[in-house]
Amino acid sequence: MADQYDVVVIGAGPAGYVAAIRCAQLGFKTACVEKWIDEDNNPVLGGTCLNTGCIPSKALLDTSHKFVEAQHDFEVHGIKAGKVSIDVPAMIDRKRKVVKQLTGGVAGLFKGNKVDGVSGAGKVVAKDKVEVTDHEGKKTELSAKNIIIAAGSVPIDIPPTPIDQDVIVDSTGALEFSEVPKKLGVIGAGVIGLELGSVWARLGAEVTVLEAMDDFLPAADRQIAKEALKLFTKQGLDIKLGAKVTGSKISGKGAKKSVNVEYTDSEGEQKAQFDKLIVAVGRKPYTEALLDSSVGVELDERGRIKVDDQCATNIPGIYACGDVVRGPMLAHKGMEEGVMVAERLADKKTQVNYDLVPSVIYTHPEIAWVGKNEEELKEAGVDYNVGNFPFAASGRALAANDSDGMVKMLADAKTDRILGCQIIGPSAADLLQQIVIAMEFSASAEDIGLTMFSHPALSEAVHEAALAVNGHAIHIGNRKRRK
Ligand code: FAD
Ligand code: AMP
Repeated sequence: MADQYDVVVIGAGPAGYVAAIRCAQLGFKTACVEKWIDEDNNPVLGGTCLNTGCIPSKALLDTSHKFVEAQHDFEVHGIKAGKVSIDVPAMIDRKRKVVKQLTGGVAGLFKGNKVDGVSGAGKVVAKDKVEVTDHEGKKTELSAKNIIIAAGSVPIDIPPTPIDQDVIVDSTGALEFSEVPKKLGVIGAGVIGLELGSVWARLGAEVTVLEAMDDFLPAADRQIAKEALKLFTKQGLDIKLGAKVTGSKISGKGAKKSVNVEYTDSEGEQKAQFDKLIVAVGRKPYTEALLDSSVGVELDERGRIKVDDQCATNIPGIYACGDVVRGPMLAHKGMEEGVMVAERLADKKTQVNYDLVPSVIYTHPEIAWVGKNEEELKEAGVDYNVGNFPFAASGRALAANDSDGMVKMLADAKTDRILGCQIIGPSAADLLQQIVIAMEFSASAEDIGLTMFSHPALSEAVHEAALAVNGHAIHIGNRKRRK
């Protein structure tokens, strides 16, 4: 007889493992099916985020940032470190250890919360049945009153540049280079392309980013995107906009292999040669061998599992969350959806606030935003006030010699309610979170202005931007001064 569960979750990435843990906490008998295994066939939890996404990329970003600091910034502080060099295998090894610690942590959480981890590929074969095929091909069946699908996403592969994970790599391959490529091409100036391009540029690669669109970071506020482009260019990233990659050819043998890339821009057909090429053109939902067509779970036009605002599919008892459904492909969005689904199963009225999903690019400086940007407010015809504060006027940022960027806050001109915040600067992700919380509580810019901030702290820049919304900033000249 099939094992009986209240909930079977498919996928142990951030959406799935969080959903499984919350379900178990709420008293449901829960299993989580995950097909990822390591080279010794041991189950690996944590999904893209922990294994090949958020965490390993941040590990490499942190190492490469320290390398840049040691090379260029220590001197300013009077520290003589001599000539520094990078040991790439040691860097990759540290990254693997961090990943292992965290994926092992998820296994520990499953044990502690009594979630049954089931190793194998799950397939929804009926509205209350999941078939699991383990790595040896053995099939078992799990019965479930409810199924939560959290199968995530995979990198998009484009025909002009087929991935060989040697010379032409996707984001996973770009986290595993054994040495710094001399010339590195990156296709796509999205979040992943910029983060991975930055890692290898900081370590000494000559990096060219080819982006098909004419606009840089189109989802970001224009002023912030302009500042980012200026700073990244200063850091040595050669970002070519309006450059659409149309073809590639690998030449040479062994360590001498390289790739010739063809692209078109406003001046016509162009060519470039790279030692390695990272294809970072986005990700697509992963639904391969996941759904038996007899079950009738609907997909949308982009191959995502179709769900409502509460992550319910068209089939009662089947839910889906994370990258495999609509919305931004972000770990925190998936985690909150996982919690929402679990709590809805327990008859709680939990809701995800999709208007307040923070976006972050973990370059240096970081870029983070939430809510509406200036262009969106203009387009919607909303009357707003803007408050800007540059980190160049922050005592803490200057003390740290890390003062590029600014905080920009937008508030409703009539009600003063905060409508959006964009930050480019040191620790932007953590600074932005203060405003995400404030916006959850419908705070006004004045509320933030009246709050006491520790001195000296980077967050004073958020305080001053809020004051600047109404022309009250103390540490900069105010554009429009009001009483
Ligand atoms: P995934 O993490 O993709 O997990 C899905 C899991 O389901 C996988 O483990 C997969 O093996 C498993 N699975 C799939 N099908 C089956 C099946 N049939 N049976 C069993 N198991 C199955 N997001 C951020 O928020 N912040 C970041 O800084 C960030 N950085 C990133 C950097 C990179 C390089 C990349 C690639 C992504 C990054 N992301 C980041 C995105 C983030 O990784 C994803 O949004 C997140 O992992 C999605 O979570 P998920 O649980 O929906 O899916
Ligand atoms: P994101 O979806 O944020 O990860 O960003 C991926 C980026 O890759 C987008 O900005 C796309 O415009 C870009 N892109 C997709 N295909 C190509 C291509 N053939 N050449 C250059 N850039 C591309």
